[in-house]
Amino acid sequence: MLAAMAVSITVLASGSNGNCALVSSSATRLLIDAGLSCREIMRRMKLCDEDPQSIDAILITHEHSDHVAGLYVLAKKLKVPVYITGPTHESYRRWARDSAGNKVRLERVECFSSGRAFEVGDVTVTPFTIPHDAVDPVGFTFRSEGIKVGICTDLGYMPASVRHHLRGCHMLMIESNHDLELLRGGPYPWSVKQRVMSRVGHLSNEALAEFLASEYDGEAEFLILAHLSERNNHPEIARMAAERALGEQRSFLRNHLLLAAQQEPLPAVRL
Ligand SMILES: [Zn+2]
Ligand SMILES: [Zn+2]
Repeated sequence: MLAAMAVSITVLASGSNGNCALVSSSATRLLIDAGLSCREIMRRMKLCDEDPQSIDAILITHEHSDHVAGLYVLAKKLKVPVYITGPTHESYRRWARDSAGNKVRLERVECFSSGRAFEVGDVTVTPFTIPHDAVDPVGFTFRSEGIKVGICTDLGYMPASVRHHLRGCHMLMIESNHDLELLRGGPYPWSVKQRVMSRVGHLSNEALAEFLASEYDGEAEFLILAHLSERNNHPEIARMAAERALGEQRSFLRNHLLLAAQQEPLPAVRL
């Protein structure tokens, strides 16, 4: 069978209870993070007509459990390499346990360094540092078949380096974590609110709007708002903030807004 030339992103889950997304070219399939149980990741892939056995590699952004909870079991089952930075791997190794409470060891590890691009199959992956309270957190851009995809969640703000890496993305999945008013008035203890709002916490709807209205190049056909807080945000609030910020940049061809969810996958977005 001749595969259609296409690059796609399928967000299997996004939010503080688990993150996992699939980025595919016609020849290569990469799973970004494994923050749901192995069983749930497999179930959601099948819901999206994706075969888990076709995964070529798993790439990890950082060691928070909402990004690695299912990693060990999934990597073992699929027998695929895990691409991870050295410090993130170290940190993962220190606390990761199997269901019996024993320390686990990933069998196939490929270490990468933030800022240094590498190839997996026909995809060029560029990891870049993001400001977040993990040991060595990264966002990614992927290039294949002339298409550039960006994934950037779990960051306290948008430094110039991040804005630089996100230029020219045709599909961009980006964090719109919380509404500042809802967070301030919400149920979290003050210490948690401070963490979320800090420079190494999560990107608010307002901070994303500021980026979209000023620095963003408006090039993406699809913008996927991601890692929405279930308590301190609402999909319609996030959508409206982004719509307002994009203003006239939204058109028939550009900046279609989609929302990634925690409870169900966002079907493949393809170019
Ligand atoms: Zn997260
Ligand atoms: Zn995180």
